[in-house]
Amino acid sequence: MTQIGFIGLGNMGGPMAENLLKHNFSVAVFDLVPAAVEKLCNAGATSASTAAEAVAHADIIISMLPAGAHVRSLYLDDTGAGQHIKPGALVIDCSTIDAESARAVGEGLQARGVRFIDAPVSGGVGGAQAGTLTFIVGGNVTDLDTARPVLEAMGKNIFHAGDCGAGQVAKICNNMLLSILMAGTAEALQLGIDNGLDPKVLSEIMLQSSGRNWTLELYNPCPDVMPNVPSSNQYQGGFMVDLMNKDLMLATQCAAQSNSAVPMGSQAQSLYKLHSKQGNGKLDFSSIFKMFSAK
Ligand code: NAD
Repeated sequence: MTQIGFIGLGNMGGPMAENLLKHNFSVAVFDLVPAAVEKLCNAGATSASTAAEAVAHADIIISMLPAGAHVRSLYLDDTGAGQHIKPGALVIDCSTIDAESARAVGEGLQARGVRFIDAPVSGGVGGAQAGTLTFIVGGNVTDLDTARPVLEAMGKNIFHAGDCGAGQVAKICNNMLLSILMAGTAEALQLGIDNGLDPKVLSEIMLQSSGRNWTLELYNPCPDVMPNVPSSNQYQGGFMVDLMNKDLMLATQCAAQSNSAVPMGSQAQSLYKLHSKQGNGKLDFSSIFKMFSAK
């Protein structure tokens, strides 16, 4: 049976590991927070008292950590868990981190005979719980094929973006575009409202016209236009402004390294930063609408 080591059992990693257990994988888990480990052990996981212990016997290691520094430290530090992974094992890092860190970790592990793919996710906490995440993978096809049964236990769609690091690049391109679409949609809706239009009517018109986009289809930012979305629930749940800010920071850093012009992404980053500074960091990212409506 495939032995899995899972590191990082937070809002995303916890439910992802639970779905592996539901698919009868044998999972050893570790997190710095003991309560998170205990919760998974109650669901059938094996408790590890260190990250090294969680990875030592694993065929596949999955990490779901906050940022690049955590992932680098886990796998590359001289005294880190990376030194305890057996050669031939496969590391799947699902955290959203900078592509440079993903490539450095991939190279560092490969030098020890350990395989690596980056597999950041889209779909949020709801997708992690429901097992419907989208995985955006960077790495070689053989390693992706090894990972596939494990990823399928946690998600619905699996994309191969390219070589190591490409999963991270594709993910931040998507999220940068999403932030621009959300801010632009909010801006257009408020322009209509300020000029006497009903936002429901305007949304329907734009949805059937050339302004159509994902936010109008599924995630309208104006309160009470759509049921069951964060904007109709005081912007609770969903994808936090501060997480969007993290992804926009990764996108603009990536653009600086590749000398790419991202004027729209930079604008969106400034808007979301200001929105967070005004106390909205924990709200869903569609709350950017409040910037235009000033309510
Ligand atoms: P989280 O803060 O809820 O969880 C992170 C977990 O990692 C925590 O439980 C923390 O204790 C643990 N951790 C940190 N350092 C560790 C270490 N050295 N060893 C073991 N455990 C350690 O974060 P999250 O919301 O689960 O997000 C995780 C990753 O997924 C991030 O990279 C985030 O950008 C990405 N992501 C999040 C969402 C979302 O909606 N929350 C959506 C897509 C992607």
